[in-house]
Amino acid sequence: MSGTSERLLERNEETAYQMKENEINSIRSQLPKPGTLGPEDCQECGNDIPMGRRQHGFDLCVGCATVREVKHGR
Ligand SMILES: [Zn+2]
Repeated sequence: MSGTSERLLERNEETAYQMKENEINSIRSQLPKPGTLGPEDCQECGNDIPMGRRQHGFDLCVGCATVREVKHGR
């Protein structure tokens, strides 16, 4: 009997692993290719862009990105 439950447990772990893998892949596909860094300086005002934003491929600082979003909003 214990053999059956062990196999079930194994399958559950496998499914959980697969789900995590899919999740990671879908998150990765939404991001720019790894190694794609944005410019050091904002293309709009020349301020430094935080590394976190550059790693996501942004070429505007937070402030300018917000302004641009507002401008393009309506
Ligand atoms: Zn800026």
